[in-house]
Amino acid sequence: MRLLLLAPPGAGKGTQAKRLSQYYGIEHISTGDMLRREVADATPLGLEAKTYLDRGDLVPDELIREMVVERVSEADPKGGFLLDGYPRNLAQAEEADALARDRGITINGAVYLDVSAEELLRRLMARSGTESRSDDNEETIRHRIEVFEAQTRPLADYFRQRGLLISVDGEQPVEKVTQDIIDKLAAAGAGGAGAGGAGAGAAGGSVPGDAAGVTPSPGPDRPPTDGGSH
Ligand code: AMP
Repeated sequence: MRLLLLAPPGAGKGTQAKRLSQYYGIEHISTGDMLRREVADATPLGLEAKTYLDRGDLVPDELIREMVVERVSEADPKGGFLLDGYPRNLAQAEEADALARDRGITINGAVYLDVSAEELLRRLMARSGTESRSDDNEETIRHRIEVFEAQTRPLADYFRQRGLLISVDGEQPVEKVTQDIIDKLAAAGAGGAGAGGAGAGAAGGSVPGDAAGVTPSPGPDRPPTDGGSH
């Protein structure tokens, strides 16, 4: 299973990424987490990326490309990946297409979490009180939402035109959002490993209530087929 996850800040992207990657037994690749690690380790890339992160702007495409290519190349032979936070603009989407084509990788779906701007702001302001992310203050939060609207939201159309968009209502409870994604991927024929949807995931099953309870698939190439406990 090879998935892209497109979602505005505060839509529950990280939470859904963890649940889905666990469910499908694929690697979770978060460009935001990778960048935050580089910043914490004060690497040259981290030092360059920090000002963009702190402002809530997108880090230049070329810095992202190298990070992503390396991780995707490692994860792909092990059964797939979920790319959380990439692509983030049209140039990156076209680049992702070209990279996938060159390497013979088929993307099964681009998952889009739909959440209203008011709800995003409410959630992010609540989170800023409990987490200490340097980009969680009101000004930066508003800017990150604007950046999403201007640069990332148009990718929904880009992937819709390619028949890859899986759009779900991200304002539902966490478990329901995960289940909708799994069901829609299965309905699109992408429930299992590879484009053929061999396993059909847990279509018709249910996803346990917390991320820790999502049963990982039995192996990277064999998502569960019984639909029973998922
Ligand atoms: P996230 O954790 O996905 O919300 O990302 C946090 C921040 O990392 C973003 O506000 C950007 O500054 C940066 N970032 C993450 N992914 C990308 C990307 N694909 N392209 C450019 N910047 C990114």
